Amino acid sequence: MSAPARPPEGRATSPGEDVAQRQEGSPVSTGDKRIAIAGAGIGGLAAGLALLKQGFDVDIYEQAAELGEVGAGVQISPNGTRLLQAWGLGDAMFELGTQTKGKEIRVWNTADANRYLELGAASVSKYGAPYLTFHRADLHALLLDAVRREKRDAIHLNAAFASLETADGGAQMRLASGRTVRADVLIGADGVHSKVRQSLFGADRPRFTGCMAWRGLIEADRLPASINRTGGVSWLGPTAHVLTYPIRKGRMLNFIGMVDRADWTVESWNARGTIEECLRDFQGWHEDVIAMIERIEVPYKWALIVRDTLPVWVRGHVALLGDACHSTLPFMAQGANMALEDAMVLGRCLRRTPGDLPAALASYERMRVERTTRIVNESAAQITRVHAPVLAEAGSARDHIQREWEPHRVEDRYDWVYGYDAIEQPFA
Ligand SMILES: Cc1cc2nc3c(=O)[nH]c(=O)nc-3n(C[C@H](O)[C@H](O)[C@H](O)COP(=O)(O)OP(=O)(O)OC[C@H]3O[C@@H](n4cnc5c(N)ncnc54)[C@H](O)[C@@H]3O)c2cc1C
Repeated sequence: MSAPARPPEGRATSPGEDVAQRQEGSPVSTGDKRIAIAGAGIGGLAAGLALLKQGFDVDIYEQAAELGEVGAGVQISPNGTRLLQAWGLGDAMFELGTQTKGKEIRVWNTADANRYLELGAASVSKYGAPYLTFHRADLHALLLDAVRREKRDAIHLNAAFASLETADGGAQMRLASGRTVRADVLIGADGVHSKVRQSLFGADRPRFTGCMAWRGLIEADRLPASINRTGGVSWLGPTAHVLTYPIRKGRMLNFIGMVDRADWTVESWNARGTIEECLRDFQGWHEDVIAMIERIEVPYKWALIVRDTLPVWVRGHVALLGDACHSTLPFMAQGANMALEDAMVLGRCLRRTPGDLPAALASYERMRVERTTRIVNESAAQITRVHAPVLAEAGSARDHIQREWEPHRVEDRYDWVYGYDAIEQPFA
């Protein structure tokens, strides 16, 4: 692959120049404010990093006995990479991430590719930051190392949030071990099944979409030479679609196959399926898709579930972040990006008014709810564009792709997403 385009000058990339140095906060010291975060996923670690960079004392409580991430890819678009750069992780993200040239849109059975989206250098020149793909474990490790550089012992394992005892006048939670933790603020970054959310707002109402996602990793050198391993490819069909993209500089391909199927309703990163079952879901698809499925290391299954968007994320000294408050379908690849944006805005808001933390949290909520709600809704609406009956037949499939991926339409769908700068958003 060619050398990655570097970010344009003007956006800080070294730790000494990062966003923590911006003078937009109150003169009140942040160092004596303790922030507890439940969950050390991408959102919890990013929030921890953003708050440590703003001078807060942060502890992150993770239920797992060991830290890590599942074997899968994740795409970080310019609205997310510009934040990694601002936290001083610009060089490391280029080392670990892969900058693909772009993405082809293909018809499921013919491989007819009549639209191409430029992502690589085009993303830097258009949005001021790159579009990168990662192995999730690499992105997680990038954030984890950065948190530990700020505070060595910030992360506590085997430390599951069990219940909320106080949200007003400070925050107090009980861990599953029985230990009580007090802090000035508690952030619930405990993912889609968030117990912090349940403690604040009761049970949610998950609704199965009738669609599930297959996901897996493929060693690129096991693939036939004809298969594209330097760029992304979306294969669109009448009742399913497949997305592949390279990670680890093209040594691996990430595979996601979303298929209309009513019998799999488990929303879990660890539920395994079999190659045979996955092949059955893609019978009749192009031979390249079949060749990729046959070479998936371990095929995992994830049911696609929607929830009502939450209009309120905060009570007193407790707030939600990431999937805990806006879990989204993966059709726009924005869940982790939104968690990074939340983290940046949260850090800025708390830094601005550390003397009135509930007001700071309310400001964070006001700045984030509208955008994340729109992304959740537009991601759900995307399903009818990528699984459409007109894709069954070659002629109408070509027309559909020509129309829906016409460059101006694509800009309408994505410019407001990728162009967003969480560092510059005005306070609300
Ligand atoms: C198939 C698929 C593909 C995707 N692709 C993309 C993509 O390309 N780009 C993108 O931006 N997004 C993508 N997403 C979405 C993205 O994965 C999520 O939005 C993101 O992981 C959310 O991060 P989070 O930290 O909020 O939650 P999580 O990653 O779920 O982390 C939550 C953490 O909290 C811990 N935890 C849970 N309960 C407790 C508790 N009680 N106490 C303490 N800790 C707890 C968990 O162990 C975990 O470590 C995809 C999602 C799917 C399903």
